[in-house]
Amino acid sequence: MNDKQYDVAVIGGGPAGYPAAIRAAQLGLSAVCIDDWKNEQGVRLFGGTCLNVGCIPSKALLESSELFHRAETEFSVHGIKVGGLGLDVAAMQSRKAGIVQQLTSGIEALFKAAGVTGIKGRGKLLAGNKIEVKTDGGVETISATHVVLATGSVPVELPMAKFDGKRIVDSTGALAFTSVPKRLGVIGAGVIGLELGSVWGRLGSEVVILEALDTFLYMVDQQIAKEALRHLKKQGLDIRLGAKVTAATVQGDVVKVGYESGGAAQALEFDALVVAVGRRPYTTGAFAPDVPLQLDKRGFIDVDAHCRTSVPNVWAIGDVVRGPMLAHKGTEEGVMVAELIAGHVAEMNYKTVPSVIYTAPEIAWVGQTEAEVQKTGRPYKVGTFPFAVNGRAKGMQQAIGLVKLIADSEHDDILGVHIVGPVAGELIAEAVLAMEFQASAEDLQRTIHAHPTLSEALHEAALAADKRAIHAINR
Ligand code: FAD
Ligand code: AMP
Repeated sequence: MNDKQYDVAVIGGGPAGYPAAIRAAQLGLSAVCIDDWKNEQGVRLFGGTCLNVGCIPSKALLESSELFHRAETEFSVHGIKVGGLGLDVAAMQSRKAGIVQQLTSGIEALFKAAGVTGIKGRGKLLAGNKIEVKTDGGVETISATHVVLATGSVPVELPMAKFDGKRIVDSTGALAFTSVPKRLGVIGAGVIGLELGSVWGRLGSEVVILEALDTFLYMVDQQIAKEALRHLKKQGLDIRLGAKVTAATVQGDVVKVGYESGGAAQALEFDALVVAVGRRPYTTGAFAPDVPLQLDKRGFIDVDAHCRTSVPNVWAIGDVVRGPMLAHKGTEEGVMVAELIAGHVAEMNYKTVPSVIYTAPEIAWVGQTEAEVQKTGRPYKVGTFPFAVNGRAKGMQQAIGLVKLIADSEHDDILGVHIVGPVAGELIAEAVLAMEFQASAEDLQRTIHAHPTLSEALHEAALAADKRAIHAINR
């Protein structure tokens, strides 16, 4: 029997892979998406890390835990009295699971509507653009003119703190706790460590976050990072910088953690330990040894600016290639690749990929930090505006943080926007759009912002860059 033949075969059905297949089908190509994700109950679901154990479940728990925390600490300020406030972790987890279930099954409906063939099984790229697919029903081979590898990433394990799935866990384990650990250790004050530390801290854990680097959020504009650190510490997160974990052992019900700080050995005990030290590209078994795909030193599949690999008609996108490990970055790469395969002109603007950390306050940014601009030697101006004097933020009882806008002082181009404050992750969209359209700071200054809104803080930051903010003293 002849192999089934497709124009495009995508291996991996996460936020990079499934949109690539859908876009290819929209453009009239025959597309198949192969994904082997299995949840704890052994059910196969599309959506990859993001929908199953990443972006979506973490945001569900962040929302629930923030509501609980605000009910506990803030409602009284609004004049709301709640007696007998309690926590039902099982209900919280089941709400989260319901959201995951709706969104993952939604992908199958999208595939059906777009005409994408979804296969739940494991794909392996063979020489000659053939793919061996192992499903619960057996093994088959398909052929495709173009193959897109979107096999994603997995958590990094530390050799001295091996996951045991119970007390020493990765992010997936930390999203699934069935009760609130009394003492929670987190290794790594990166995006995932801060978000998961926030969830369980708000629900009552005593959280200690150990970070090897001396700098907090080195990739974030340091004025914003310092402001964020102050608020996160105030919330009760014990964030220790320059603390390099050297050992972690489970003894009975306790995890004993050793770390070095300032040259001295320190020790702590926790009820659970989350290892959140980053993720690594996942290519295990994704291609046969005779497929001459090049990987870089860190194991990412080597690609050019258009996500072409070293093998003709084989493309790679998402976490398995260089660049920020973010769902929306993978999605846009997937769309670009589908359009290129269909013969369209397509580009990905890596300079305007936004980043968001969903702590409270949220941290969001796009473009260059002030330190990065300084390094280029380009003349620049900075405008900042605090939420402390923003009417909407005050009404929301969240008047903390600031917006910082950096622009070229000769040509007025916006070089970077950095926000720490309420719903910064939503506010950053305006800055991304402005930068995508190559707007100037003056364009933002002349854009009318509704009052009272949080977006006025971005408007005022743009005005402040030219010392013309209305609601602040311009220095
Ligand atoms: P993945 O989502 O990892 O999907 C790859 C898929 O390919 C998986 O389903 C895998 O099973 C499958 N696969 C692998 N090999 C094969 C094979 N041989 N055959 C068949 N299938 C295969 N990013 C954000 O942008 N915003 C966030 O808020 C955010 N929060 C996060 C929170 C957590 C706790 C974590 C862990 C991550 C978070 N991320 C977030 C990162 C985001 O999840 C990833 O960047 C994103 O999922 C990468 O998408 P991908 O499609 O490249 O890979
Ligand atoms: P991210 O890559 O954003 O998920 O962040 C992971 C963080 O973990 C980085 O800031 C690393 O510096 C930190 N890290 C890695 N190894 C250790 C370690 N042994 N002890 C403490 N922090 C670590």
